[in-house]
Amino acid sequence: MPSNSSDGRVRLGPYQRAAVGVLLLPLALIAAQSVSPSGTSQSQTQSQTSAAPNQPGQPLPNQPPDQAQPPVQPIATPPKPLIMIDPAHGGSDSGAILNPTILEKDVTLALARRLRLDLGARGFVAELVRDSDQNLSSDDRAAKANAFHPALYVCLHATSESGGVGVYTAMLAENGETNGPFVDWNTAQFSFLPASRSAQQDIAAIIQKSGMPARSLATRLRPLANLTNPAVAVELAPRKADVSQLLAMDFQENISAALANGIAQFLSESKANPGASQ
Ligand SMILES: [Zn+2]
Repeated sequence: MPSNSSDGRVRLGPYQRAAVGVLLLPLALIAAQSVSPSGTSQSQTQSQTSAAPNQPGQPLPNQPPDQAQPPVQPIATPPKPLIMIDPAHGGSDSGAILNPTILEKDVTLALARRLRLDLGARGFVAELVRDSDQNLSSDDRAAKANAFHPALYVCLHATSESGGVGVYTAMLAENGETNGPFVDWNTAQFSFLPASRSAQQDIAAIIQKSGMPARSLATRLRPLANLTNPAVAVELAPRKADVSQLLAMDFQENISAALANGIAQFLSESKANPGASQ
């Protein structure tokens, strides 16, 4: 990365030369109509003066002689990792009716929006598969997430049973089938399972560190099997039988922070060892 001073010279050299030329041009035009007593046209004098900075061997004051000026290269910033958050259910699919006033689809959307903020605060980009009370099929969700090529897909569910937070990966046979360059839709997740399990372990470990019980499990619940990137599903559970805490501010803040920290841990490991994410 060039220093400020060398960068300044690179940028100011041509500018200074151009500025001198612009300032002197009107003077040269005026002087062209008069001749000095010595017989030398003032326009010639001015022209020589204005041309002087561009003469070979006449560098500008700040410019070392004969120094080739390298082109200024823009500094490439690597793209921020993208996390796709999928609040399960929505629209006419309410998910579980956790109590008469709390629907699973509302708990998952509230947590998804909070998690998007928490991930943004950690320097990541997060997109929501749905950001409204919208009906989406499993295939719609997988297709939308796959199109973004996220570093991680996280599906959110919620239950009224107090058995700890469940962190899931896809349950697939160990010999996932592929058909040449094409991936079977039903086992698309297969080659990403090792990375998905790494994410699962990181997320479950940090949820436990934050004081909430967490379990790592496998599930046939779609659309995990259809994802072509590391993918997990997280099912919230109340600490006790009090379902109302699932929408409570402090509960959502705690679980969102734990999820964001677990995701950050996984992404830092993926960055250090890119081959592990495939
Ligand atoms: Zn659900």
